Amino acid sequence: MHFLAVIACCLLALSAASEWGYPDLDNNQDEAFPKWGGLCDNGKKQSPINLHVKGALKGEFSALKFENFDEEQGSLQMVNNGHSIQLSGFAHDLTLSGGGLVSDYVVEQIHMHWWSEHTINDIRYPLEVHIVHRNKIYPNMSMAANFKDGITVLGVLYHVSNTPNEAIDSIIKSLDSVKSYERINIPAHIEDSLAVDDLVPSVDTYFTYAGSLTTPTCAEAVTWIVLTNTFPVTLDQVNQFKEIEYEKDKQLHNNYRELQSENNRAVVLVVQQERSSADQLSTLGMGLTLLLGLAVHKFQL
Ligand SMILES: [Zn+2]
Repeated sequence: MHFLAVIACCLLALSAASEWGYPDLDNNQDEAFPKWGGLCDNGKKQSPINLHVKGALKGEFSALKFENFDEEQGSLQMVNNGHSIQLSGFAHDLTLSGGGLVSDYVVEQIHMHWWSEHTINDIRYPLEVHIVHRNKIYPNMSMAANFKDGITVLGVLYHVSNTPNEAIDSIIKSLDSVKSYERINIPAHIEDSLAVDDLVPSVDTYFTYAGSLTTPTCAEAVTWIVLTNTFPVTLDQVNQFKEIEYEKDKQLHNNYRELQSENNRAVVLVVQQERSSADQLSTLGMGLTLLLGLAVHKFQL
């Protein structure tokens, strides 16, 4: 009997430890950001950070490659996990590769933060969408979180507009079924279909840096790709997300983590050149490039 009591007690302690949250800024604007423990408090490569165009290194990579992002997803699932709205259940592997990435990364889930977590040139945007990818060489997210090349998150910031965003609208239309506290962690189907690339503006300019998950465990396993191009959203649309409950009769009005120290990390601003015929030739291989180089040289002589 005592033994069972000890187990019950430990389980309680565990569940208490897994509860974490954001400051209630409605109640108190100055409420300190809570300590989440572990790496969240003592890590040196934490996210989010402020991204400056001026302070960034300039980088050149091959173009990012997106596979199946344009495929209409007709049976996506949505869940209110008490910290965000999260989408999953993609019909086929959505694969991201190229750029500075060392491997193929497949989309695991998509979720939102209201206000944005990253700031660009000290500006905070009303919404940030995170498209979370796992390195295909690891079988699952918890394994991937142990390795610095384990996860890539594509971050998309949204700016205020008077024109509703259609892709965001197709998510909002199904929000009612997961908003209440009683529905936490119970998945619902998204009625409208949606292609993931409808959530992503042009990818020709982005910041990339080595950072962490922005929620516990704050694992330092994330290659961040934060696009500088933003998408429009109305404040009315963002306000719909703010109505989801995280406790009985308590709405999640903000779910962004405070900015973290850069700690001398390299933040690279990648400006993709227009894909010219010269770029295409460079993918044909060094041998041919050398030959062409020689030919051009000869021609100039
Ligand atoms: Zn996130």
